[in-house]
Amino acid sequence: MTVPIVVVGAALFDGGRLLAARRSAPADLAGRWELPGGKVEPGETPDAALVRELREELGVDAEPGERVPGEWPLRPPYVLHVWTARLRPGSAAPEPLQDHDELRWLTPEETGDVDWLDQDVPAVRRTLAHLGLP
Ligand code: C5P
Repeated sequence: MTVPIVVVGAALFDGGRLLAARRSAPADLAGRWELPGGKVEPGETPDAALVRELREELGVDAEPGERVPGEWPLRPPYVLHVWTARLRPGSAAPEPLQDHDELRWLTPEETGDVDWLDQDVPAVRRTLAHLGLP
């Protein structure tokens, strides 16, 4: 049996808005939107991976919150987990430094307006429901 490898996606909230990031690579994912994040490395905790990925990809200093219950299958052996996160006081504003070419802060009502990666659609929906957002 293959051991799943967790990809952590950050539901990064600021002022009640959720950050969506548009992928610039690889070609088959370019143009689709995602919760920023990436693979948890061996020996790394998921929340540490989340902080590292957000620093690398967006240049921010993030504080992980809680895991959103659920798991969404990606291409084997990867599975997507979602954690909430916030910007720490004094953090830079996010910039698309790596893997992305555009960012948007979405109100809960606007989360349906972008073309999310397939597995991010249920993950975003579950995140909003978990937080009691519309
Ligand atoms: O960002 P990274 O390339 O490390 O992500 C690994 C894989 O996880 C990507 O190929 C992408 O398909 C998937 N992913 C996803 N949703 C996210 C983050 C990553 O489907 N929010």
